[in-house]
Amino acid sequence: MKRELDKAYNPGENEDKIYKKWEESGYFNPDNLVLDPDAKSYTIVLPPPNITDKLHMGHAATVAIEDLLIRYHRLLGERALWIPGTDHAAIATQNVVEKRLLKEKGKTRQDLGKEKFLEEVWAFLKITQSTILHQVKKMGASLDWSRLSFTLDDERQLAVRTMFSEMYKEGVIYRGDRIVNWCPRCHSTLADDEVEYKEQLAKIYTFKYDKNFPLSISTTRPETKLGDTAVAVNPKDERYKKYIGQEFKVVFCGQALNIKIIADRNVESDFGTGALGVTPAHSMVDWQMAQANNLPLIKVINEEGQIHPGFGKFSGLSALAAREAIVNELRERGLLEKEEDLTNNLSICYRCGTAIEPLSSKQWFISVDKKIERLGNKSLKEKSIEAAQSEEIKFIPERFNKRYLDWMNNLHDWCISRQIWFGHQIPVWYKGEDIYTGLEAPSGEGWIQDQDTLDTWFSSGMWTFSTLGWPTNYNDAKKSGDLAKFHPTQVLETGYELITLWISRMIMMSFFALDEIPFSKVYLHGMILDKDGKKMSKSKGNGIDPLDIIEKYGTDATRLALLMGTTPGNDSRFSEDKVEAKRNFINKLWNISRFILTSCDEKFYAAASEKAPQEKSIADTWILGEMSKLIKNTTERFNSFEFSLAAEELNDFTWNKLADWYLEIAKVEKDKEEILIYLLKNLLILWHPFIPFVTEAIWESFNDNVLMVAKWPGAEEKEVFLNNDINLIQDIIVAIRNARSENKIEPSKKIDAIIYAGKSTPLILRQAEIIKSLKTGIASLEVYEKGEKIDSAIMLPLGEIEIYLLGAIDGEKEKTRLIKEKANLEKLISLQAQKLNNADFVSRAPEKIVTAEKEKLNSYEQELSKIVNIISSL
Ligand SMILES: [Zn+2]
Repeated sequence: MKRELDKAYNPGENEDKIYKKWEESGYFNPDNLVLDPDAKSYTIVLPPPNITDKLHMGHAATVAIEDLLIRYHRLLGERALWIPGTDHAAIATQNVVEKRLLKEKGKTRQDLGKEKFLEEVWAFLKITQSTILHQVKKMGASLDWSRLSFTLDDERQLAVRTMFSEMYKEGVIYRGDRIVNWCPRCHSTLADDEVEYKEQLAKIYTFKYDKNFPLSISTTRPETKLGDTAVAVNPKDERYKKYIGQEFKVVFCGQALNIKIIADRNVESDFGTGALGVTPAHSMVDWQMAQANNLPLIKVINEEGQIHPGFGKFSGLSALAAREAIVNELRERGLLEKEEDLTNNLSICYRCGTAIEPLSSKQWFISVDKKIERLGNKSLKEKSIEAAQSEEIKFIPERFNKRYLDWMNNLHDWCISRQIWFGHQIPVWYKGEDIYTGLEAPSGEGWIQDQDTLDTWFSSGMWTFSTLGWPTNYNDAKKSGDLAKFHPTQVLETGYELITLWISRMIMMSFFALDEIPFSKVYLHGMILDKDGKKMSKSKGNGIDPLDIIEKYGTDATRLALLMGTTPGNDSRFSEDKVEAKRNFINKLWNISRFILTSCDEKFYAAASEKAPQEKSIADTWILGEMSKLIKNTTERFNSFEFSLAAEELNDFTWNKLADWYLEIAKVEKDKEEILIYLLKNLLILWHPFIPFVTEAIWESFNDNVLMVAKWPGAEEKEVFLNNDINLIQDIIVAIRNARSENKIEPSKKIDAIIYAGKSTPLILRQAEIIKSLKTGIASLEVYEKGEKIDSAIMLPLGEIEIYLLGAIDGEKEKTRLIKEKANLEKLISLQAQKLNNADFVSRAPEKIVTAEKEKLNSYEQELSKIVNIISSL
C-alpha cells in the first residue's frame, strides 16, 4: 500500500497541501507541460475582478467554470493557459475609497488633494488585491500565476498608451463635445453616481418661441431655450406628423433661432404639449437626439452658471434671473399659454447641494463608424458585427448573439474620458493650441497633461492581448511570443450582463490592435441567486462569502454545487443544503476509492488506465461498456458546455452503477483488481475538472504522477455493449429486495426462492450466486424453465419470468398485496394502451420506440394474467 486513505476525507487538511503541490509542479504554466510539439493552445483570460471588494458567489461560479474548462483541456494534452489578473476599476474604486475616507477620517478627496488621495487608493488596493488572489486560490484555480496582470500595472500602462496614440493617429480617437454634470460652485464635473436628487416645487411653462411658430412647447427651464436647435415630437403623434422634417426661423425673445422638427420615439405625446424643445448643450437626452439628428449645439450657460455673451440683454445674468426675465417677456408678448405648478427632482451636487448644470464640454471619443483602411475599409462596428454574424465568434447560449447584435447595431461613439483621479491618465499633452499624444510627455517646457482619466473599460477591453505582451510582441502586423502562441483565446466566460459594457469593447479593441477576434466562443453564465431565488446583496444581508462555505464544506463541494443544476445563461439558486449534498457525494467517492484500493493488491495499482482490461463475466462487460459510454458522453458534454449534465451522468455511474452494483458483484465474483483500478483511474480523471482536490488526493495515494496532467481517456472504438442480461439480473434482485421490504421481512431472515425463467433459464442459473449474494437474503435458489404454480409463496412476475419467495408469507397479507398489485397493473395497462392508441404518437415516434412500448404493454399483460391466476388459487 503506497499510502492508505484516511477513514474519512477532510478537505481542510488536504486542499492547501494539494494546491501547493500543483503550484510547485509548475504545470499551471503551459510552458512547463510535456506536450506533443503540435499540441493546440487553449487560452482563457480570467475576467479581472474589481479590486473594490472581496469576491462573491458569482465570481466563485466563474472560477469553477473556467477552471473546469482549463483542467479538461490540460488533461486532453493541450497547451492550456489561464491568465489571472485584477481590474483597477477606476470609478468604482475611487468611490469606495472616498466613502471610507469620509467615514474613517471625515475627509473628502479634495481635502487630501490628488497626490495624497491616490496614495490612499493604492494602499487600499494592495490589501483587497491580496484578499482576492487568496480567494481565487482557495477555489482551486489552476491559473498561471507567473503571468499575473493588473489593468494598471506598467505593462498595461504601456499597452493603453500605445493603443490610445495609435487610435488617435488613425483618427479613431477624437475630441468632441459632450454633456457632463457640472457643479458651478465646486467647479467640477461629477460622475453620474455623484449626482443626488432633491424633490422640489417647480413651475412648468407652456409657450411658443414666437407667434409664427406652429407648435407650443413646455419646459421648466425657459432660459435654456435660447440654445434650442430643434423641437422633437413622437413620430406617431397625428397633430404634428405633418411638420416632421420642416425647418423654421423664429425669433425667441429677441434671439434668432433655427428650429428643425424631428421625430423621436421617446417623446411622450401626453406630457405637456407633446412637443419638446431640444437644447443639445444643456441636457443629456437632448444631446443624444442632437447626435442622432446631426443638430448644431449652442452653449447658453457657462461654468459659473451664467448666460454666455452673445445673448443680448440676458448675457451675464444668472440662470434664475434669466428665467424670470424670459417668462416676463413671453407674458408681455402674449406668447405664454400656461404656467402650472409641478414637483420634480432637481439634480444636486452630492458634496455641496448646488443645482447641477448639465454643460457640454470637450471629451475624448472612440469613433465606432470611422472606416479604417487596413481593416478592409471597415469600421470597428462593422467588423464586430460581422464577427458575430459569421459565427466566427459564437455565443453560448445562442440567444445572446441577438442581444449582442442589437447592441452593436445601435452603438454610438464611445466617450472614453472620465473626470476622476484614479485610472489611466489620458496620454495627451497640451501647450496653448498644440496637442500631443504619445507614450510620454513631449520634450520642451510648458506641456500640461490632460487631467482626465480613461473609462475603465478601455483597459479591460484590451485584456485578451495586453496580457499576452501586446504591443511588444506585435511588429509589422506580425505576432510573436505569447501573443503568437495564445491569441486569439478560445473562450471568454463571464456573466451575461457584461455583453454590452465589456464583451463588445473587447471585440472592437482586438480588431483595432490585431485585426483578429479576441476569442472564438463567449460562454455566459447566469446570476447566482439565494435559496429563495432573490438576488444576493450585501445590503439585503443574503450575500454568501465563498470562503465561509469552503471552510465548512470544502472547495470541491462548493464547486460542484455551483456547477450542477445550472444551465448556461440562466440564473440559478444556491443554498447550503445543496453544498451539503455534494459534500456527501464527495465522501461517497472517497469511500468507494478506499474500498477499491484496500481490496486490490498494490501490484495492480500500475494497471493501465488507457485500455480496458479483458472482461470475465457479464457484469464486467456491462460495467466496461458503461464506462466507455461515460467517457464518450462526458467528453461530448464538456465540448458542448453541458457541465451539469456531465456531472449528473458521472454521479449516476459512480453512485448507482459502480457502488450499488458492480462493487457488490465484484465481492462475489472476485479477481477484479485490474478492472477496478482501471475504473477508478478513469473515474478520477473524468471527475477531476469538477472536484480537483479530492480526486488528486485519492490519485496521489496510488500513483506517482500528478492527476492534473494525466491523460484524458478516449472512449474505446468498440460499440458500447448495452447489456440487457445484466439488467434482467438487476431487475430480479430489485424485485426480491422490494418484496422483502413491502412484506416487512426481517433483514436477517433467510428465505428460499424458485424462479421459472423460460428462455432466460441458462442466464439466471449462471448468475444464481450473484442473485443470492446481493442483499436478497436468499438461502437456496432453484431455477427452472417452467413449473407448477406454488401456493403460499410470494409471487413476483417479471415479464415472462415468475419468482416465488418461500417461507416468508402470511396468506391473507399476500392476497391483499396481490390485489393492490393487480389494480396497479391494470392502471399501467390502460395508460400504455392509451399511448399506443394515440395515432399521433405512433406515426411520429421512431419505430424502435413504438416496438419497445408494445413490448412493455405485452409484458404488463403477462404479469396481470399471472397475478389473476394466483389470486384465484389463494
Ligand atoms: Zn458642488
